[in-house]
Amino acid sequence: MTARNSNPKSNTKAKGNPVCICSICEDPIAEQDEKRGIAGEEAIECENPSCGWMHRLCAGISKSAFRSLSSSLDPFFCPYCRLDFQAKEITSLKEKISDLSSTVSNLSSLVSDLSQKLSSVFPTTRAPAHSSDQPPARSSSDHPSARPTVHDRTPFSDSQRKFNLVLHGIPENPHGTSLRVRQRQDHDKVASVLGDSVPSLSSVSVRDCLRLGKYDRHSTKPRSLLVKFNSSKDVQSILSERTNIHTSDGSPVYVKRDLPLKERKIESYLLKERRSLLDKGTARSSIKIRGSGLYIDTLLHGRADITGFTCQSAAHSDVTPTHPSTPVSLETNTQFENSPSSDPCPSIQD
Ligand SMILES: [Zn+2]
Ligand SMILES: [Zn+2]
Repeated sequence: MTARNSNPKSNTKAKGNPVCICSICEDPIAEQDEKRGIAGEEAIECENPSCGWMHRLCAGISKSAFRSLSSSLDPFFCPYCRLDFQAKEITSLKEKISDLSSTVSNLSSLVSDLSQKLSSVFPTTRAPAHSSDQPPARSSSDHPSARPTVHDRTPFSDSQRKFNLVLHGIPENPHGTSLRVRQRQDHDKVASVLGDSVPSLSSVSVRDCLRLGKYDRHSTKPRSLLVKFNSSKDVQSILSERTNIHTSDGSPVYVKRDLPLKERKIESYLLKERRSLLDKGTARSSIKIRGSGLYIDTLLHGRADITGFTCQSAAHSDVTPTHPSTPVSLETNTQFENSPSSDPCPSIQD
């Protein structure tokens, strides 16, 4: 028997047991007997105490590998024991992974708790106001973060819209910019434009930005931008300064309220009618829009609804306006005539 001669322990065992059984095939391993001219079988001992000796071929070792193993001081483990070790290692790695994922899950619920606390603490300190001035927080079951975001693609309730404005004329990043970069830069551009133009704005006002409509790489006109603010008071400040808002190169930025579809359509029909009256020579100062009605010199000219604008018949043209609020001149809104909002219902996409 040619044992692994580099390992005295292995040789001792082989010599001390005249009949040695291969732990794989369970046949005896023939020992060398010079007197009787018997050449021993090549065998090797696995270092695993519960294993033992085995034929070279049973261990799947080539002659050359056997020679180099025989002169090596490294412990030898048979393929079966190595597989066994690997299986145990895989099991222990799986346990570690399971520990790590429960750590991650604990951490993410901590982060979720913290962001919930932040969103409940910071809006109050930024804009001290009664609670209806704050965007409603969602329950944590909806989302790991309670922070509402316009990326949710959910329809906006009317109570959410008072935190939103639609901005036209904010330059858009060129084609090929990643979504994440575009979103961050849109946010920075909006914060910078509004920060420069609206002095009373709080520095942390802009919460989120979303481009409206499909991206058209051939268009030179930037898409309009839906901006969500942390405070409805900031929205009011911006609306009151909206004729003074410009980009850094002096181009005007048009600001509109985020109206529900029905009101957007009505506004669009009213403005269209107003444009056609101006084209026909009606004096700009004599046209007033109030609610869904358009008045010329305080006389009701017609009303808009979701289907379009309807002119009042001559017989009723002297109807006295009954709306409780005072007429609002559209002088401050003339900027919308050239704004890209002529589509009354842009779809919300990115
Ligand atoms: Zn064997
Ligand atoms: Zn073994």
